[in-house]
Amino acid sequence: MDLEKIFKLAEEAEKEVTELCSGLVKFNSAHPDGHTDEAVAYIKKYLDEHDIENEVHASDPKKPNIVARIKGGGKKVLWVGHLDVVPEGKPENWTYPPYSGTVADGCVWGRGSSDMKGACAAAMVSARILNEIKEVPNTVEFWFTSDEEIGGGAGARWLAESGRFKGDVCIIGDGNGGGPESPSIDLGCKGGAGVKLIARGQTAHGSQPYLGDNAIKKLIAGIPWVEKINDFPLDFPDGLKPAIEDSIEFFKNAQDLTPAQEELMAHNYYTPSVTCNIINGGVKTNVIPDYAEAQFDIRLTPGSHQLRVVERIKELVKESGIKGLEVEHREFKPEDTAGFSETPDSSFAKQFKEVIHELTGKPVNTKILTGGTDGISTSRRAGIPSLGYGTSLTGQAHQPNEHITIENLVLGTKIYTAFPLTYK
Ligand SMILES: [Zn+2]
Repeated sequence: MDLEKIFKLAEEAEKEVTELCSGLVKFNSAHPDGHTDEAVAYIKKYLDEHDIENEVHASDPKKPNIVARIKGGGKKVLWVGHLDVVPEGKPENWTYPPYSGTVADGCVWGRGSSDMKGACAAAMVSARILNEIKEVPNTVEFWFTSDEEIGGGAGARWLAESGRFKGDVCIIGDGNGGGPESPSIDLGCKGGAGVKLIARGQTAHGSQPYLGDNAIKKLIAGIPWVEKINDFPLDFPDGLKPAIEDSIEFFKNAQDLTPAQEELMAHNYYTPSVTCNIINGGVKTNVIPDYAEAQFDIRLTPGSHQLRVVERIKELVKESGIKGLEVEHREFKPEDTAGFSETPDSSFAKQFKEVIHELTGKPVNTKILTGGTDGISTSRRAGIPSLGYGTSLTGQAHQPNEHITIENLVLGTKIYTAFPLTYK
């Protein structure tokens, strides 16, 4: 089957992929609930209507996953994307209601459109096209998962650990693939080593500060000491440097950054990124708090050892000299490393880049994503080489007024259809 014909079939499906993306956005699958049952039922109905073999896999009935299967010979190509989304935040920040799935100005609008129900819609159409072609050289499975935004517990992590992901190669549909103008594939993603800083003090009546020991005051003094981890050099393998330099170049071009933002972005490929995103403490205005806590999001370039980072944070907090501070973190073994990354020299990477190049006519770059993806589960837990190409637009994930261009939906459909047909 020649690719031109595939590209034409994808272009003819523009209305279909737009409607599917809009349809998926309408189901609120936001955390903390993260329920994917309605979205999965919607996908199942589409797959059944088009006679596509499918199965639902669930460890939590409210958070099911679904797989569409196109049987062929040869190798087995997986595609993995997630259906859960992050909360919409304040409704007044949205021009169109976050779960309206409004189609306007050549885009689909709403929470999850870019991250990543748009890519899921593209994958649904790809499954339909491949199923109708009949002579697919490889077996293809499209997996739609839950729980990606909270580590994959009922989603990709469970699917990998229970042996349900089996294949030769895997495409992760998450992330920003640069659109038709500056296409790039993801060789991997950073991993997390988040910590919680806990402050303990002595409670007293709010009118008598001399009797109390204010935990909030200690916490605020302690936060900059945790943030010093931003200058700790990471110990990822040397072989990753070219991909890192490519990533820095990609984000420089893809995002409109000030010189200071650009410097921090680049710095944080070599050091942990750190940001304090949740603070809790205090019970009443007239009570001096004896407890307060701060939660930090800390991201590490793939291959870096998490234990060394959290050990250094503990040292820094100790160096602060502030009494009553404590650092809590996930347990790490000395050999544990963050995230995942694949080599750019594999036949898989070359063939994947080739398809995208043929489609866009542009050079295809490589990068390491700053955020985590289900690729950590498919690559590290299931042992399947995993590369990413996402349809997300720059700066849209987790933001108000999230949207995706219909152009990117069609581009995703082309790539997710063409690769399983050409992979050898
Ligand atoms: Zn995502």
